Amino acid sequence: ILDCMISYHQKMDSKLMSNTSVLVLDKNTSEDVAKAMIEEGLQKEPFFVFDMDEAYRRVAHFKKMMPRVQMFYAMKANDSDKMIKLAAALELGFDCASPGEIHKILELGVSPQSIIFAAPTKTPDWMVYARQSGVRHTTFDSSYELKKVKQYWPDVGLLIRIKVDSDSIYKLGEKYGCDFETEATNLLEEAASLGLKVVGVAFHVGSSCSSAHSHVEGLQNARALFDYETRAGRGMSIVDIGGGFLSDKIDRIDQVSKLINTTLEELFPEHSVQIIAEPGRYLCDTTCNLYCSVNSIRRATRGGEKVNMIYMNDGLFGSLRYNDPWQTVKRFGRPGDIRNEKLEKTILWGPSCDSTDRVMQNVDIMLPRCTPLDWLIFAIQGAYSFGFASQFSCLQRPQMRSVISRDLWTKLKDSKVFGPGDFENNPDISAPLPSTLPPIINKSTFVKSNTLKI
Ligand code: PLP
Repeated sequence: ILDCMISYHQKMDSKLMSNTSVLVLDKNTSEDVAKAMIEEGLQKEPFFVFDMDEAYRRVAHFKKMMPRVQMFYAMKANDSDKMIKLAAALELGFDCASPGEIHKILELGVSPQSIIFAAPTKTPDWMVYARQSGVRHTTFDSSYELKKVKQYWPDVGLLIRIKVDSDSIYKLGEKYGCDFETEATNLLEEAASLGLKVVGVAFHVGSSCSSAHSHVEGLQNARALFDYETRAGRGMSIVDIGGGFLSDKIDRIDQVSKLINTTLEELFPEHSVQIIAEPGRYLCDTTCNLYCSVNSIRRATRGGEKVNMIYMNDGLFGSLRYNDPWQTVKRFGRPGDIRNEKLEKTILWGPSCDSTDRVMQNVDIMLPRCTPLDWLIFAIQGAYSFGFASQFSCLQRPQMRSVISRDLWTKLKDSKVFGPGDFENNPDISAPLPSTLPPIINKSTFVKSNTLKI
């Protein structure tokens, strides 16, 4: 039984997110697709609809706003098959943060030189793996890492990761980045004395960063380190401005882009310096909505107040871990929906038996009263959602239906990254995604265990 379950879980893991071909839309929108899947009643499990055109628009807008900055997509944000293929087809580079991510990208036929292994701390095995795979660039932020690099990856091009504080929702500086004032030049000297090549400076202002001046601070400190290296008779050639761009609206980057562009022209006028960024969330957050069905409902009293408790088929241990401020939940278009239906205080529970499996805890959720026939839509769920999903209690991650417009499909279908399997067999708009239920096991002999009385 154990063998069977292991192979089932492994099988599901590789099947999820990759097994379904893309639905080519004619006049439908991604919400029409979800509606059709739900209305037919055959779709039972939670699912994402991934809108490839939205990802395409995001890449194009980023390029337009920051033409000098080359994108290395931070695939940790959304490593679904179609998202990474789209990024590869659009000739982006990749920020990989583990051997598994490197493997996934190389399998697409992308050159290892289009990868930056942007994890400042790595095990010796990870370094050897990346080196043997042909990856040539990585980041570091400590003396201990330099010693490991010397031993396991001495020919790599290093980028020193410096810490930049900011008004970001998800701070990264607590964990990574050396202090510019007190540590950076010592590390540069140490790298030189070990005979290692430091080719650039990297920073990340933190995810969902609202302070545009943080990028300026990062660039100013990068310039100072470039000058330091020049004075020392060495030289650097890459500046990596990381990710962290706000994602809820496409034009959110417009203001910060202008500031970055002017600062680049001022501080790095020499176009021989390569400027790269590692956007994750910005490229993929708005590409996906998540649809969950209502398993059960209960009316309860909490803190002296009546609330509706909704038990859903995805939750905190699945893909609903993040509480982004722009996260919304709505009841998804029930036929004959009454427009002015009263909104009531609601608690949303996930499907596991764990009592902490409560979604959007810190938000006052107001929804119309639901029935177990209803579905809920969570918007803007394309980044850091299913990637975080665990298999707690043997629950499976939601599957994904990818949709594309006919125009974009025509542009992409001959790209080397996409194969015929990606677009062929255009499924019917209402076709359900494959079930993740495990197979039934029938055995006539059993191991000895406690058994329940009849
Ligand atoms: N680059 C690095 C090194 C990161 O750690 C992250 C996120 O954790 C990213 C890029 C992507 O950041 P975001 O999704 O905020 O753009």
